[in-house]
Amino acid sequence: MINISFLIELNIENLEVKEVKQNKEGHYEIYVDSTQEGCTCHVCGKHINKPHYFDREKRIRHLSILGRETYLHIRLPRFQCQKCRGKPTTTQQVPWHERRSPNTIAFEKYILLELMGSTVEEIVLQEKLGYETVIGIIRRHMQTKIDWDSIEKLEQIGLEEISLKKRRKDFVTIVSSYIDGRVQLFAVLKGRKKGKVKSFLKKIST
Ligand SMILES: [Zn+2]
Repeated sequence: MINISFLIELNIENLEVKEVKQNKEGHYEIYVDSTQEGCTCHVCGKHINKPHYFDREKRIRHLSILGRETYLHIRLPRFQCQKCRGKPTTTQQVPWHERRSPNTIAFEKYILLELMGSTVEEIVLQEKLGYETVIGIIRRHMQTKIDWDSIEKLEQIGLEEISLKKRRKDFVTIVSSYIDGRVQLFAVLKGRKKGKVKSFLKKIST
């Protein structure tokens, strides 16, 4: 058998891969360190960089690699403020992950785009996610308003109304657009907004 190794970009900045394992189910388990420097003190808001141990290990779902579920294992560094009373510590915040989420932001945006044209139930089966996990992804990205000022850059808008609960009237509208040569997530709006967004686009295009 020929052994072929290959390089795959995680597309996350300031990460160092320590080890890649494949578990029994074939999932990729990637052990990483953050190489980002310091963080913002949660008390005074100033930049701090005195290391103070690490947070507990998190297992975070990321975009699949070669069709296999992929998880990042990370212990985010903690830093101590030398100026605040009691020298409080803060866990590093990273731009690719929201503190309480079990997924990377890239994975969540991927799921939201997948929801264009699929139901929540279909995504649950397709991506082997819990129903509540998918709802959690939608809720984390939900907003009530579109930033209309940025809309002149939008082309080829996609609109999809998704029902969050079977039988109940709880809807979100996912708005995608063609930005920088690819389809990207633009907004997740609360409620059924297809009509409103459409009439706005009509107005600005005439
Ligand atoms: Zn402080």
